[in-house]
Amino acid sequence: MQADFQGATVLVTGGTRGIGRAIVESFADAGANVAFTFRSSTDAAADLVETLEGQGTEALSLQGDVADLDAAQAHVDAVVEHFGAIDVLVNNAGITRDGLMLRMTEDDWDAVIDTNLKGVFNFCKAAYMPMMRQQSGAIVNISSVVGTTGNAGQTNYAASKAGIVGFSKSLAKELGSRNVTVNVVAPGYVQTDMTDELDDDTQEAILDNVPLDRLAEPHEIAEAVLFLASPAAAYITGHVLHVNGGLSM
Ligand code: NDP
Repeated sequence: MQADFQGATVLVTGGTRGIGRAIVESFADAGANVAFTFRSSTDAAADLVETLEGQGTEALSLQGDVADLDAAQAHVDAVVEHFGAIDVLVNNAGITRDGLMLRMTEDDWDAVIDTNLKGVFNFCKAAYMPMMRQQSGAIVNISSVVGTTGNAGQTNYAASKAGIVGFSKSLAKELGSRNVTVNVVAPGYVQTDMTDELDDDTQEAILDNVPLDRLAEPHEIAEAVLFLASPAAAYITGHVLHVNGGLSM
């Protein structure tokens, strides 16, 4: 897509790898100033900043846990101070801690809900005031097909991803009058470190149910995010855009 984000400032959580990195790179290619967060992969973060700056993009990397509200506030404050605004927020950071309910621990539950759902709350809360004051903004939250379909062994993950949908629709209603849109991209299975963890049998079983007969590439998810953040989608809010190769219709 040829959306023009020249001069816009974008913050992406979990930008060092996989889908997040593709989103960062796509916004940079479209002319945006890009800030991204990460939790622990400092080398990948440094490498990404170097790559972005090498192509003339203003870039800022921020280390912290999305589950920490104070850190989220500090990150948004840093973006506004550095770039003067926050035009687009993409809540992408997420983890899995899979296991059947019988064996799932409280820690598995808390870690996934805190990262995937509370992390979205934290960054939206931090970006709320700057976007209200600007009277403009676009928030795109990354859910998952399993938030709609459910998946055995992923009660924690599916709950977090379904929660993102209800959260986003509610926030869209709160922020609509301020010209701030809130939308969701729900990917199917995407070729990243997260799906590399799945064994061959599981990957084959997934592909049996995907009409397009392949996993998505991270940049194909990024395309959907850029569309929802672009002026072309200015009248779209509270929407869930499924990008899953037909896995769920
Ligand atoms: P990856 O595991 O490849 O990358 C995850 C990113 O999130 C990394 O940058 C990681 O940082 C960051 N991150 C993880 N936990 C935290 C945390 N607590 N605080 C800050 N940053 C954190 O994930 P994917 O690219 O595969 O997934 C990205 C999003 O897309 C997730 O929300 C995921 O649930 C969703 N999704 C993925 C699908 C897939 O098939 N891959 C399918 C559907 C949805 P670091 O590098 O420092 O660890």
